[in-house]
Amino acid sequence: MAKVKIEHNKDMCIGCGACAAACDNWEMGDDGKAHPKKTELDEVGCNQEAADNCPVSCITVVEE
Ligand code: SF4
Repeated sequence: MAKVKIEHNKDMCIGCGACAAACDNWEMGDDGKAHPKKTELDEVGCNQEAADNCPVSCITVVEE
């Protein structure tokens, strides 16, 4: 079972690309917004950096 869940509020995302630059679990979609490749992980890894770098704080890391 995953220990970390990654939540992304896509409505808030401004498509700046900071998360994708900080973490390879993030990529930019055709809609101009970011999305996480995986949302359930064993470790937070660089997703915390992605969340910290997001200017609109629309990435949330939930540790279970
Ligand atoms: S850093 Fe935040 S606002 Fe920028 S693309 Fe990623 S999720 Fe969207």
